[in-house]
Amino acid sequence: MHPVLKPALSRLLSLLVLVAGLLGTFGGHAFALEPVAIARDDVAIDLLPAVDVYRGRGASFQVSTVPGSDGIVRRIEVEANSPTSSGDWAVFALANNTDVQIDRLIVAPNFKLAGSGVIWPDLGSQRIASITPSEGFALDRQPNPEADVFLVTLDPGSTVTFVAELASSRGLPELRLWEPNAYKDTINAYTLYRGIVLGIAGLLAVFLTILFVVKGSPMFPATAALAWAVLAYICIDFDFWQKLVPIMPGQERIWRAGTEVALAFTLVVFLYAYLNLNRWHGILSAFTILWLTGLLALGVAAVFDPPVAAGIARLSLAVTAGMGLVLILYFTWLRFDRAIMLIPTWSLVILWLFGGWMTVTGQLVNDVIQPALGGGLVLIVLLIGFTVMQHAFAGGGFAGGAISELERRSLALTGTGDAIWDWDVARDRIFAGADGDSLGTLPFSEMNGPARDWLPILHPDDRDRFKLTLDTIVEHRRGRITQDFRVRGREGHYHWVSLRARPVLGSDGEVVRCVGTMKDVTEHKKAEERLLHDALHDQLTGLPNRELFIDRLESIGALATTRPDVKPSVILIDIDRFRQVNDDYGIATGDTILLTVGRRLKRVLKSQDTLARLNGDKFGLILTSETDVAAIVAFAESLREAIKAPISFGGREIILTGSLGITGWSEGANPEDVIKEAELAMYQSKRLGGDRIEPFRPAYKTAGSGRLEMESDLRRAFGRNELSLAFQPVVRLEDGDTAGFEALLRWEHPKRGAISPAEFIPIAESSGLIVQLGQFALEEAVRRLSDWHKMTGDPTLTVSVNISSRQLIRQDLLNDVAAVLARFEVPPASLKLEVTESLVMDNPERSAQLLTKLREMGVGLSLDDFGTGYSSLAYLMRFPFDTLKIDQSFLRDDGRPQRPIILQSIVTMAHDLGLSVVAEGVETEEDAVRLRQLNCEYAQSYMFSPPLTPDVARRRLQDRSVGFKRAG
Ligand code: C2E
Ligand code: MG
Ligand code: MG
Repeated sequence: MHPVLKPALSRLLSLLVLVAGLLGTFGGHAFALEPVAIARDDVAIDLLPAVDVYRGRGASFQVSTVPGSDGIVRRIEVEANSPTSSGDWAVFALANNTDVQIDRLIVAPNFKLAGSGVIWPDLGSQRIASITPSEGFALDRQPNPEADVFLVTLDPGSTVTFVAELASSRGLPELRLWEPNAYKDTINAYTLYRGIVLGIAGLLAVFLTILFVVKGSPMFPATAALAWAVLAYICIDFDFWQKLVPIMPGQERIWRAGTEVALAFTLVVFLYAYLNLNRWHGILSAFTILWLTGLLALGVAAVFDPPVAAGIARLSLAVTAGMGLVLILYFTWLRFDRAIMLIPTWSLVILWLFGGWMTVTGQLVNDVIQPALGGGLVLIVLLIGFTVMQHAFAGGGFAGGAISELERRSLALTGTGDAIWDWDVARDRIFAGADGDSLGTLPFSEMNGPARDWLPILHPDDRDRFKLTLDTIVEHRRGRITQDFRVRGREGHYHWVSLRARPVLGSDGEVVRCVGTMKDVTEHKKAEERLLHDALHDQLTGLPNRELFIDRLESIGALATTRPDVKPSVILIDIDRFRQVNDDYGIATGDTILLTVGRRLKRVLKSQDTLARLNGDKFGLILTSETDVAAIVAFAESLREAIKAPISFGGREIILTGSLGITGWSEGANPEDVIKEAELAMYQSKRLGGDRIEPFRPAYKTAGSGRLEMESDLRRAFGRNELSLAFQPVVRLEDGDTAGFEALLRWEHPKRGAISPAEFIPIAESSGLIVQLGQFALEEAVRRLSDWHKMTGDPTLTVSVNISSRQLIRQDLLNDVAAVLARFEVPPASLKLEVTESLVMDNPERSAQLLTKLREMGVGLSLDDFGTGYSSLAYLMRFPFDTLKIDQSFLRDDGRPQRPIILQSIVTMAHDLGLSVVAEGVETEEDAVRLRQLNCEYAQSYMFSPPLTPDVARRRLQDRSVGFKRAG
């Protein structure tokens, strides 16, 4: 017996039959109930319009029937089937107006997508607990997993009222009266459709999963997940799942909500993976993860409250579709291929969602829509599958997933853009890339063939190396070729080609082939050269920088030690007051000017000379093209002139001057020292007013260190009697007699001992002490002279006093000299003042004036250290000198054969100009003889006598006068 039959029977007992007249008290509602007439050939009748629903009537429900064939309205009372009944009841009536008995099925589907609602949707449940007819027994429930189906048999001409106890508070979404066979047919028809759709969905899910296993891209698992979610959804929707798994009534809602959440979840995952949102869009990633976490939580929530979960899942689907649309449009605008390809699929997604929305909100209601939407979902997955597969296969055979080691290597080679170089040694055939290889315009036709074919296209300098490289590798049977060669391209330029290859040995241990890669590294080489150049050259002028300068100096210095003809000089050039130029015209102009100066200097040099910019406005020059002093001087002069030429800039003319310091390379020197020497000389020239050339003098060296200390010591030296004069005899070469003395300052330092005047005179000069020193020397020398005059009675005996630059520009010098001469009563001609060339050249006008005045006083004037400066003798004759002192450097035996000639020409020239000559530092007897032959008047050197103390000098004079008198 049917399970519902027993309670139905009991209820039948309580069925009350009442007369129609009693009915009036129950109100008119029941009378509105119209029986639905059934014809024999009806297939399906929608009963809903004819159903009256009574809500919240409790477990016991009373209602009036429609009048039966007898015209009597009865009052019936129905008891609820279950104690937990909703208290909702539905009443309808059926009338069989035919003359045959009719069987019909009353069908109320458990779930109906149409009109289920978006938020808090109706996810289906049992609809009808039981149906009680006004006549006869309770209806038989037909077994059916998706609907409540009751069989009703209507006798001919009968009208029956049915009271249905509703099982769910959500009411009846659909209630139909089916012809049993037609119902079966429809179910069967849908079963076929469902089977097909399910099959496709299942296949898709499996296929996409397999694709994921084969290809590694995250796009595939995401798509596969979506496919599985769709399959699950359809399984539930098509009531397939229920057939597989026994589901308790009411649990179905959980499954349905679960699949909807899964759908929402996988759609987000798919969109994220497919559009590669993780690659660049950190915020999107974070947002997606948050979203997905929310959906996961929703999946759990589906167990407790399926409608809420489903509602949110449906909203999530809509939002995902919207956001997806925005993202796809944005990426399409960015020309992202994947986005463009997703457009059709996503359009379908949106269309589907729209259809779904129309359906669940009840705006679109028909029998086809629900299975159609299910099919639509599968279609979407199918389309997505196609799109994804297109990506999978568009990338060629290696788009992702596993590849063999060989393929990986081959791909790697393609990736490097290198060409293959393969030399079949036995057959002597080189395979070297193809035209397609991105190696510029290399002549591949000539590079493919025997190895010797390479020779003509290789740079001549590289040919031997190439041959040697190949020979070596074949001979040694191991190692590796890593060489760069220059190959002439088709357009005629040489390309640097880097060859990396390795020998492959045959079974006999011989090299059978050499295989490797070839790469055009021209750009790389250029960059390397550029870098090297930049590291060694000044950016502004392009001239070598200090490092390169030092390096060259070192190598030239090394050369100089082995070859006597290499005599480098180093010239340091500093632009005077360049800071002023920068201040006045700006750094940019300053740079332009430096560039101009650099170019001008460069024009003066010969190719073997090096000009460098050492820093700021300082240039350095290694001069090897000239070795002769005069030529070097002339060269330096031309440099000075080059700087001095006006520079036109922005309509203005800027005239700059430079200070030059020169030094020679001395054996065993190191570059830094030589530069330092030139620098010291350069600073000296700066000190003396700039726009001049100074040779280096050892005295400059001490100028820096301990200078202040020495200065204060020197100040004290006066009071402590540490200063004295030494007198070096000046010998008349004709007879070897002492013609006079040169007074030379001596300083006996209490701690350091004797200090050379070469060291302390510059300090005295710069500190101003020289005035006192000079006065002391002048007074002391003349005092001694006057004594000697008296002693010897020879008034022609002279004393020479050195005059420094400071003294020379002081007006007082005239007065001092006049005063001293008057005080010690010596003839003016017996006093000689020694002035160096550089000294007069410092201030030629003033010197000329002063020297003329001294000359007018009758004082002798000697041009000291002649030959160390650069002025010509003719020029110096503007000054009223009467004596020329040839510098000792001319008499030093330096092995130069032209030395005697130079000496001779100086002496002759001096005589022509009316000067008497003193040769300083004569070293050999031979020279002395030669000088005498040249009619050089005097000599002063250690060979004749070192500087003497005044007492010794006096004694010598005494002896001389004794000899003199004896001779006389
Ligand atoms: P100077 O005027 O050219 O003096 C000659 C220098 O040559 C002296 O060096 C002298 O000792 C040195 N001498 C002489 N014969 C020989 C020789 O055969 N071989 C070598 N190698 N040297 C020789 P000293 O005394 O060291 O003086 C150096 C310089 O100091 C002088 O060069 C002069 O320019 C300066 N000086 C010396 N005394 C005074 C002074 O009272 N006032 C000023 N303003 N300068 C002075
Ligand atoms: Mg002197
Ligand atoms: Mg001298």
